[in-house]
Amino acid sequence: MNSIYHQPEHAVLRDQIARFLRDEVEPFGMKWEQQGYVPRDVLQRLGKAGLLGLMFESAYGGADCDAITNLVFAEALSQSTFAGFVITVLVHTDMASPHLHHAGNAAQKQRYMPSIIAGDCITAVAMTESGSGSDVAAMRSHAKRDGDGWVLNGSKLFITNGVHANLYFIAARTGPAKHEISMFIVEKNTPGFSVGRSLDKTGWLSSDTAELVMENVRLGPEALLGEEHQGFYSLMKNLQTERIALAAMAIGCSMRALQLTLDYVHERQAFGKLLWDQQTIRQRLAMLDAKTRAARQFMYHCAWSVTQGHDIVQEVSMLKALTGELVNEVVQTCQQFHGGMGYMREAPIERLWRDARILAIGGGATEVMLEEVAKRY
Ligand SMILES: Cc1cc2nc3c(=O)[nH]c(=O)nc-3n(C[C@H](O)[C@H](O)[C@H](O)COP(=O)(O)OP(=O)(O)OC[C@H]3O[C@@H](n4cnc5c(N)ncnc54)[C@H](O)[C@@H]3O)c2cc1C
Repeated sequence: MNSIYHQPEHAVLRDQIARFLRDEVEPFGMKWEQQGYVPRDVLQRLGKAGLLGLMFESAYGGADCDAITNLVFAEALSQSTFAGFVITVLVHTDMASPHLHHAGNAAQKQRYMPSIIAGDCITAVAMTESGSGSDVAAMRSHAKRDGDGWVLNGSKLFITNGVHANLYFIAARTGPAKHEISMFIVEKNTPGFSVGRSLDKTGWLSSDTAELVMENVRLGPEALLGEEHQGFYSLMKNLQTERIALAAMAIGCSMRALQLTLDYVHERQAFGKLLWDQQTIRQRLAMLDAKTRAARQFMYHCAWSVTQGHDIVQEVSMLKALTGELVNEVVQTCQQFHGGMGYMREAPIERLWRDARILAIGGGATEVMLEEVAKRY
């Protein structure tokens, strides 16, 4: 499955990631699912391999790659059958630390970027609250001026990497107007900041998810990330990167599910012949493969548009809606063709099916994405 956007060096990157998944992830993923998080040394090994800072500046240890190369990384990683591992990494590389990359000043980048890229400092981004998810601007956490610094109060919910991160990019209201929101850098050991609860989930079991509590968290002026009151707009900008990464998860998962199922139906017999010999089965798989290939090309087109500096909010919203729904159609059908075995915890397709569900909800639910598309016509 090639694309006009692919370069020879992308094949090298794909091979490197495939080897990492084979040797460092797939044999241990079950254990991580049981313990509820990915061990830190695995992330450090990804850092050592140069895979945690592909799109960040080389001045801080990054690789200065473009959005297409970064997408190749996200898609190749998403071939893992342990999406909890995948989201742990992609929140760090594509959803949280891009806030520092896009809005951080030189001192902030100097302080944090090298250890982020090395995998020594793991990051999380905290927007969602119990009363505000899709409607980000309805958040209630707030930061009040205190001399030249700030006092932060409130709570956040459903925060990926929230339990085990070292560094948090937290959105809080800094004024009464709807969009007067700012971003803050909060180190884990800051007094008043705590992990309230570790949350139990349907899928993504090896990804830790937390409720965060902020009680009179005193922050110096150096904690403000980007301009005061501009946090809502930087959240919206970073959500474009995040949504392309979530699309990569959906496409990577769909490709893996289809491959697992093609293998299965070529081995499994029913009514005296292979499942593959049932026309309805092979035609449905062929159609799902066609849809996946088409969505994949659109995904690479979106990443290419990013490299051209185009405004792509409408396309990325379409992509997020399309791939979040498609992956659920794919895994549901693939699980069906695995029969009873597809319902067993030991079968990777069962895990892919559970893990795919969130891709139509998190990072912008399908309905919310379609509204973003519609209002731009
Ligand atoms: C496992 C997991 C990890 C997450 N990680 C993070 C993280 O790291 N950081 C972070 O900040 N957040 C995170 N989230 C939050 C996630 O992005 C939100 O859950 C998501 O945006 C939906 O918000 P909500 O849950 O408040 O749903 P609501 O906003 O209450 O919406 C509920 C449902 O209503 C429908 N709906 C909402 N608005 C509309 C509309 N305008 N039109 C039509 N239908 C609509 C949709 O179907 C939606 O699913 C995570 C969530 C989960 C479950």
